[in-house]
Amino acid sequence: MAAVDAEEELVIPGGDEPATGTPDSLDKKSRTEFNKLQKRLRRLVGLAITDYNMIEEGDKVMVCLSGGKDSYTMLEILLNLQISAPVKFEVVAVNLDQKQPGFPEHVLPEYLTKRGVPFYILEKDTYSIVKKLTPEGKTYCAVCSRLRRGNLYAFAQEIGATKVALGHHRDDMLATLFLNLFHGGKLKSMPPKLLSDDGRNILIRPLAYCKEKDIAEFARLRGFPIIPCNLCGSQENLQRAAINEMLREWDRQYPQRLDSMFTALQNVAPSQLADRELFDFVSLKTTPREEATADDGRLDVVNLSI
Ligand code: SF4
Repeated sequence: MAAVDAEEELVIPGGDEPATGTPDSLDKKSRTEFNKLQKRLRRLVGLAITDYNMIEEGDKVMVCLSGGKDSYTMLEILLNLQISAPVKFEVVAVNLDQKQPGFPEHVLPEYLTKRGVPFYILEKDTYSIVKKLTPEGKTYCAVCSRLRRGNLYAFAQEIGATKVALGHHRDDMLATLFLNLFHGGKLKSMPPKLLSDDGRNILIRPLAYCKEKDIAEFARLRGFPIIPCNLCGSQENLQRAAINEMLREWDRQYPQRLDSMFTALQNVAPSQLADRELFDFVSLKTTPREEATADDGRLDVVNLSI
């Protein structure tokens, strides 16, 4: 993991905007839509936090802010919940300035200062390293993301953050599931909460239950000063782009399908798959007649239709 050698300084701005509220610039119809969306996102983030015990009393939550729609939305909703949540927790925003060409370094400090959010800007020229490490003709994103994660997780340790919040949402989790299914030979996705590989950070994804289209609309109405990720000129991983398009198409044609797939992620039946590590198929034995309960002979409806 990359060391963090910069002497970073915590900025605690006064802020001249409230942490919640409807943007004044919106007309009546858009305000209603914004309020509805904000309420839905708050509810879903609150539910995910509770379901996975993401945030506890006294936590210092480091919000990783890239400047994209997802991380801005995550920060906004967490600030919003901070006011009414039954537990007290701290929020600190951290942006890693990776020195990509064209990165507008004034945007996030200005935004965070205006919003009154304590923040750090971590400067690290990972872009030069990415260029050196990436083979000719390959996209930079894989190495870039790995270096970003390494730096951010190390920094979380430095500032004593007890949770690291990442802005991945439901559709990212589904896309990762299919990436692993189609190209990785694994049935795995992105969990809402996990321990980092080195066991030193607990990572949380408060937007796990939120749909990308709701986040995109919320970000548009809220008018976040979005910084596009591909300023560096690198292309999105082509396999991920194809899967994202496939999911969008399914969502257009079959509006319930993504919901059903996400429910499936929370409803895994190891005995109905084929992983010998997860379920002990080898030792399967019948239950003696006298021990069997009334339910034991019931067959799964899906199996009956085969
Ligand atoms: S588009 Fe550029 S900045 Fe974004 S992850 Fe890829 S390499 Fe990194």
